[in-house]
Amino acid sequence: MKSKLPFTSSILFKAILLHLLLFAGLFTLNTQAYIGQHDSFIRFCAFYILSLILIVWFTMRITIGLNQISDQINEFTDKKYTVRKQIPGNTEINRLYDKVVDLGEKSEHAQERLESSSTRLNGILTYMTDGVIATDRRGKIVLANAAALEYLNVKEKDILSRKIIDALDIEADYTFRDLLESEPEIIIDCENIMGEFTTLRINFALFRRQSGFISGVVAVLHDVTEQEKNERERRLFVSNVSHELRTPLTSIKSYLEALDDGVLQDPDIAPSFIKVSLNETDRMIRMILDLVTLSRMDSDTIILEKEVINLIAFLHYQLNRFDQIVGNSDANEKQFKIVRKIPLQPIWMEIDTDRLGQVIDNLMNNAIKYSPDGGNVTVSLEQTNTQVLLRITDEGMGIPKKDIPKIFDRFYRVDKARSRNQGGSGLGLAIVRDIVKMHDGFVWAKSDGETGTTFTVVLPYAPLETDNDDEASSWGSQTSEKSSLIS
Ligand code: ADP
Repeated sequence: MKSKLPFTSSILFKAILLHLLLFAGLFTLNTQAYIGQHDSFIRFCAFYILSLILIVWFTMRITIGLNQISDQINEFTDKKYTVRKQIPGNTEINRLYDKVVDLGEKSEHAQERLESSSTRLNGILTYMTDGVIATDRRGKIVLANAAALEYLNVKEKDILSRKIIDALDIEADYTFRDLLESEPEIIIDCENIMGEFTTLRINFALFRRQSGFISGVVAVLHDVTEQEKNERERRLFVSNVSHELRTPLTSIKSYLEALDDGVLQDPDIAPSFIKVSLNETDRMIRMILDLVTLSRMDSDTIILEKEVINLIAFLHYQLNRFDQIVGNSDANEKQFKIVRKIPLQPIWMEIDTDRLGQVIDNLMNNAIKYSPDGGNVTVSLEQTNTQVLLRITDEGMGIPKKDIPKIFDRFYRVDKARSRNQGGSGLGLAIVRDIVKMHDGFVWAKSDGETGTTFTVVLPYAPLETDNDDEASSWGSQTSEKSSLIS
């Protein structure tokens, strides 16, 4: 701030005035000496002028020095730390100037430190995935980082100065005083900037000055949507497992009790009771094995043992097993026909044959299980430059559209009674999805809900440079392998 001083307030003016007063005083005291003494009066005047010149010169130097210091302070105030002024001489004014420059340099360093820590803090707050909101001591928001704005789906200008309990929509349960006193951890649900419903865990902490005086509250918003979902799924999973195991166990227990009560002696009923118990036991074993597979996949303890194979030969090998079942089945069992639409040229791929065999097995079993007697199951394979598409289509009851998104969930069954009758665990498709995912592929189902369902497994494909004749021969060619397996 540069305001010009009036001349009457300047040191120069005051020095001249003082000098004049001094000489006026001297003159008044010695008036007699100068009256009629022409020479003395001239000398007096000469002294006056000479001393006035010296006073003016000296005061001017001080004033120039002080003005330079004042200008230098202005430069520092304007953050121009490199500009330096020239002050003639080597007096107290120069020392004062040096002190001012020293102070300026210190303030420059302090300013730099402050700016860099504020930039660092801003950077941290901006790129933090957690939301941060700070308030003043009255609970009005003074800071909200980008994540907090995204979570709460608000603009900065709309949230600043708003009360925090209003912005977080917790007025019904908390006052600002509650936040100060108990620093609670709360969970809220809100809609984020993408329109998704998120669950936020909010922790509050008091914000104190060095003096201990509370100057506000800091709230940290953490997105726990995934965690909450996992927790819900885990609870549901545990309850499903207990329910699924309780049903066959109860049934086995009641059959065993009946046998114990004397049915064992009845040759007409006893065998059927024992058979039902065995079937239920088999179903439980199957379910437990499926659960073990899923749990190993969840905990990443399954490592794929991939090998290069000819997918065409591998698929024929898997389907031949089902053809064999049809061939060996008695008249009471469901009949079905497998229609193969599989290209002739080999497709070399790196897969875990055991796991992918399980995928084909589960899908084929479902196609047969949920199909009428005498239905066709069509298996087709298609290869593009980047993908291999395996489709298994049946002519069964289909899957209602509303159920399609859920059938890959654990224990989800469209028709629970029918699935149980068929010995299903509701885990087969969950295993299929996980195995396909482990191969970097994906699977989906398509059905009109009335007749037939198509499951499509898509696996990534890249042509392999293979000269691996050993592995090629292990899966053989379509015709030779088929005949060897059937014979
Ligand atoms: P499940 O052991 O009950 O067959 P899955 O996980 O294999 O369990 O299948 C889940 C549910 O999806 C089944 O209970 C059934 O309702 C439905 N489903 C699966 N495949 C078919 C299909 N090919 N046709 C009709 N419904 C099917």
